[in-house]
Amino acid sequence: MITHKYDIVVIGSGPAGATVSRFAARAGLSVLLVDKKQELGAPIQCSGAVSRHALEEVGLPLAEEYILEPIYGFAIYDQAGKAKKIDYRRLKGEVYGPGPDRKPLGYVVDRRRFDRYCMMLAERAGVETWLKTEGLGYTPAADGSCTVQLRRYNQLLEVRCRVVVGADGLMSQVGKWAGLQTHIKITELAGCLQFIVDRVETDGLLEIITGHEWAPGGYAWVFPKGNGYAEIGLGVISTMTEHSAQWHLDKFMRQSFFKDRFAAARILEVQGGGVPLAAPLRTQYADNLILVGDAARHVNPITGGGIHTALSGGKIAADFLVKHLQGAEREDCSAGALAGYQSAWLAALGDKMWKLYHAKTAVFHQEDIPTRDAYLFKTMSDYFDPNSEYKKI
Ligand SMILES: Cc1cc2nc3c(=O)[nH]c(=O)nc-3n(C[C@H](O)[C@H](O)[C@H](O)COP(=O)(O)OP(=O)(O)OC[C@H]3O[C@@H](n4cnc5c(N)ncnc54)[C@H](O)[C@@H]3O)c2cc1C
Repeated sequence: MITHKYDIVVIGSGPAGATVSRFAARAGLSVLLVDKKQELGAPIQCSGAVSRHALEEVGLPLAEEYILEPIYGFAIYDQAGKAKKIDYRRLKGEVYGPGPDRKPLGYVVDRRRFDRYCMMLAERAGVETWLKTEGLGYTPAADGSCTVQLRRYNQLLEVRCRVVVGADGLMSQVGKWAGLQTHIKITELAGCLQFIVDRVETDGLLEIITGHEWAPGGYAWVFPKGNGYAEIGLGVISTMTEHSAQWHLDKFMRQSFFKDRFAAARILEVQGGGVPLAAPLRTQYADNLILVGDAARHVNPITGGGIHTALSGGKIAADFLVKHLQGAEREDCSAGALAGYQSAWLAALGDKMWKLYHAKTAVFHQEDIPTRDAYLFKTMSDYFDPNSEYKKI
């Protein structure tokens, strides 16, 4: 039975879904945002590093409620421990640093609190939100609208809308509902694991450790976590190693050039998840449907970071939908009519992400391991360089 009608129904309330919803509702569209979880952002499957620019770009207040730690730069290490440090406190100390007159470059955020905060802003913009509500499928209708099948608590129900937004993350089913090609190659899916630890010193930098020895197909990281805690993690590509991410993380902690630094570490929490180091989906729209965030593979293939691209992709999607659903062609929500979303996304962000994908592919096509390691270290160092053309992704 159809109980409600909306302009758009958004499936998944991560950073992408909450941002699409907020901007669409703010411009006057009626929006339903659903998430299958009963507690947003839990269990945490993210290190939470995000640039200040990314938050400001989508009008997110820099709130203590979700910020754990300010970040002032990066340290990129090669396999043997040689570091390239890019510390904005030294490079541009008049702008970046602690205190009221200077600012951080970015933050480590608490994803549980961050996701809840993003949803709260969406609600305040007028979005209707339903937790513990799973999207099950959708059916385009003859009149140009569609129905969306949901399970809310244990009840099955249908709502009607003009466009469904799939913001349902890496394991997205929404694209599959429409028959989109969402398959991800195992060679491009990084298995990630991180420990939240006490008793490991950090200094306001995101530390990135390259080298096949520590993280085949990916990299290891040490991020400050706030309260004196740190995140130590890594991502590996399963086809490039016989061992699990856990095996590599144990080895990294016990045998790497950081082993003395980690000697007293006390593990407080273990978190894990998959990251697509893949190209953006070639088609991100269908009849009455678009995809955004991890669901559309809007993930930086060099760093694996997806918060910024989920936020900015969310805003691009909302801007497109507002224009389309408030325009003269609003009755037409066919795939052809929604193709403009992908063009807008490519122009604003996607072309750069394709370039990053080609840069990443060039690294991992190197057969010789020392050559590949050197190439990855250089690519990472160039990416984080203050003059990098990608620094706003
Ligand atoms: C270990 C790890 C560390 C990471 N660290 C970083 C980092 O430091 N910085 C960074 O930028 N990125 C990081 N990422 C990547 C980042 O977490 C993702 O790119 C980002 O969360 C994508 O946002 P999203 O909104 O697209 O999807 P998600 O955050 O995955 O949100 C999807 C939402 O959809 C909901 N959902 C799924 N299916 C349904 C359904 N059928 N019905 C209703 N709801 C549904 C889920 O419950 C979820 O809430 C990391 C990832 C991992 C695994």
